[in-house]
Amino acid sequence: MRLVIMGPPGAGKGTQAAMIADRYSIPHVSTGDIFRKNLKEGTPLGLKVKEYMNKGLLVPDETVVEIVKDRLSEEDCRKGFLLDGFPRTVAQADALDQVLEEMNMELDHVINIDVAKEVLVERAVGRRVCKKCGSTYHVKYNSPSRPGLCDECGGELIQRDDDKEETVTKRIEVYLEQTKPLINYYSEKGLLLSIDGGQDIAKVGEQIVKALEI
Ligand code: ADP
Ligand code: AMP
Repeated sequence: MRLVIMGPPGAGKGTQAAMIADRYSIPHVSTGDIFRKNLKEGTPLGLKVKEYMNKGLLVPDETVVEIVKDRLSEEDCRKGFLLDGFPRTVAQADALDQVLEEMNMELDHVINIDVAKEVLVERAVGRRVCKKCGSTYHVKYNSPSRPGLCDECGGELIQRDDDKEETVTKRIEVYLEQTKPLINYYSEKGLLLSIDGGQDIAKVGEQIVKALEI
């Protein structure tokens, strides 16, 4: 299965992507995770994307497309993949089409998680991630069994730098301007599965599985 999951920041893409990747045994390819890993390791790519990420802006298309192209050509993506956080602009979507065409592949579905704007800030600001394994929690809606510690690996839970309210608001603006047009883009191609992301995590997951398995 070759999938894209899209939606505004804080919609629940990463949370559902972990479930989908596990259920269908496909790699979860998150451009945000790739950038954060590079930032943490202080690589040249990390240095290049730091400013954009901290300001809540998009990393330039050429940089993101190159990273995704390399990642999709890895062996584990032959059996399928789930792209999370990419594409985020029409230019990225066009580039993805071209990359897939060169690889003789096509997308099967684009899952769009629809969530009211007012809910997004609360979700993103309350997000906590494990410093060690990257698992995602929420202080209110998905709290760990031991406060501040990851259920998966015991690692410390931290707030992302770009999850401060001001940056989240900027990221939502950027989404509305640059990413939302992709809803029409994929709808016109007949690929879009729209999911109501306003319900709890388990219910959103059930809707996604149902839509994928129709
Ligand atoms: P995204 O990858 O779209 O930015 P995440 O999956 O990281 O979003 O989710 C953002 C925050 O909201 C996380 O703290 C997550 O635990 C929480 N969350 C995700 N889905 C839901 C939901 N359906 N209801 C309540 N909180 C949710
Ligand atoms: P995410 O983890 O998807 O919320 O992404 C975090 C940040 O990484 C974004 O705010 C951007 O700065 C950057 N980023 C991730 N994916 C992309 C993309 N496809 N295009 C441009 N910037 C991206």
